[in-house]
Amino acid sequence: MTRITLDTVRALDSDDPLAGFRDRFVLPEGLVYLDGNSLGAMPKTVPDRVSAMLHDEWGRHLIGGWLKDRWMEKPLALGDRLARLVGAGSGEVVVVDTTSINLFKLLSAALAMRPDRRVILSNPENFPTDLYMAQGLIDQLGGRHELRLVTEEEVAGAVDEDVAVVMLTETNFKSGAVFDMAAVTRAAHAAGALTLWDLAHSAGAFPVDLNGAGADFAVGCSYKYLNAGPGGPAWMFVASRHQEAAHQPLTGWLGHDRPFDFDLAYRPAEGIRRHVCSSPGILGLVAFDAALDIMLEADMGAIRRKSVALGDLFIALVEQECGEAGFTLASPREAGLTPPWRRGSQVSFAHPDGYGIVQALIARGVIGDFRDPDIMRFGFAPLYQRYEDVWQAVAELRAVLDGGEHTADAYRERASVT
Ligand SMILES: *Cc1c(COP(=O)(O)O)cnc(C)c1O
Repeated sequence: MTRITLDTVRALDSDDPLAGFRDRFVLPEGLVYLDGNSLGAMPKTVPDRVSAMLHDEWGRHLIGGWLKDRWMEKPLALGDRLARLVGAGSGEVVVVDTTSINLFKLLSAALAMRPDRRVILSNPENFPTDLYMAQGLIDQLGGRHELRLVTEEEVAGAVDEDVAVVMLTETNFKSGAVFDMAAVTRAAHAAGALTLWDLAHSAGAFPVDLNGAGADFAVGCSYKYLNAGPGGPAWMFVASRHQEAAHQPLTGWLGHDRPFDFDLAYRPAEGIRRHVCSSPGILGLVAFDAALDIMLEADMGAIRRKSVALGDLFIALVEQECGEAGFTLASPREAGLTPPWRRGSQVSFAHPDGYGIVQALIARGVIGDFRDPDIMRFGFAPLYQRYEDVWQAVAELRAVLDGGEHTADAYRERASVT
C-alpha cells in the first residue's frame, strides 16, 4: 500500500465539498476534537439565538411568548424539521424529554400493544441506560415481562412469538457497528413483534430512513451528532400507523387533548402530541433549532461520504504509524457507502493501556474518549473536522507512545466521567 503523507491528507481537505461548514462552529484554536459523538461542537449561531429568545421573547412578552413566539408549538415544529433527517413524515417526530425517558414511554406503549407477549428482546452491548430503563419498567409492571439479551448476530433469528418488542441501539456505542435496521425490522414484523430503535449515535451521523425500514418506534438525543448542546432535548418517533394505539404512561397535562380545559379526566391528544408530558424547555429547543438549520443545509450523502473517508483515513494512519503498538481495530473495517451501513461515524481501537492513552492524548489537545474495558473511541463529525485533524491526532498518538506518556501515575485512577 502506498504511504499516506501530509500532502495526500491536505489534498483531501482542499477537495472537500463540506469544508466551508467548519467555520460555522466554535472550535478552540489548536484543539483536535474527535468527541462529537459524545457532545457535538457549538454552532456559532447558538449564543445569539438563545440570547434573542431571552431578550426579545421572554424579556418582552413574558407569558405571552407561549402563543406569540409559538413556544408551545416548538416540540412538534422541531420534530417536523428533524423528521427530514431521519426518514420520517410530518407529525411522526416530537422533540421532548430525554432519550431515556422517551425510551421508557415508548417501551411501555409497545408492551401494551402486545399484551399477550412478555419479552423485550435486546442485546448485552446495548447502551446501559436502555437496559436499565427496561429493567425499571419490568419492575413497575409487576415483573411479568422478561428482558432477553442475545448477541448482535443472533437478534434477527431470535424473534419468536413471545417477543413483544425488539429494542436496539442501531449504532453500537463502543464499536460503532450498525444493525441492518430494515432487515431486523422485517424479522421482527414477520414474528409479530414491534421495533424500538435508539438512534443516539445514528441521527445526524449518517442517513437514517425510519419509514423506509418500516420502523415502529424510535428515540434519539440531540447533543451528539446534532450539536444541540449539553443535555439538549431528545426526540421520539411514532410511525403514523401506530399513533392511535400507542399510549404512554407519563400522562401529563400537555399530552392532554385540551390542556387548558383543566378537565379532571385525562384524555390523550391526537397524534404525536400525546407523548409530550410537561412544559417544554424553550432554551434547549431554541439551541437545537439553530443547530438543525446547519444540519438541514448540508447534504446527508456528502456527510456520509466524508465520515467514511475520515474513519478510513484514521484506521489507515493508525496502522501505518503505530502498527506495532498493540492496537486492535474494534470497529467494522468496512463502513459502507450504501445501506446497509456497517460502521457508524466513529472508529474504536482496543488497547490494554487505552485509558492512559486517551488521557495523554487529551493532555495534548486531541479529544477522544474511553469506554470500559479497553476501548478508545474517536468520533467523526464531517461538518467541522478536517482530514488534517486526523493526521494531527495520529501524530500526537505516536508522540504519546514514544514518550511513554500514557503510563503516567496520574492515569492510574479513572476519572468519574470518561
Ligand atoms: C448517549 C446515549 C443516550 C443518552 O441518554 P440520555 O437519557 O439523553 O442521557 C441514550 N442511549 C444511547 C444509545 C446513547 O448513546
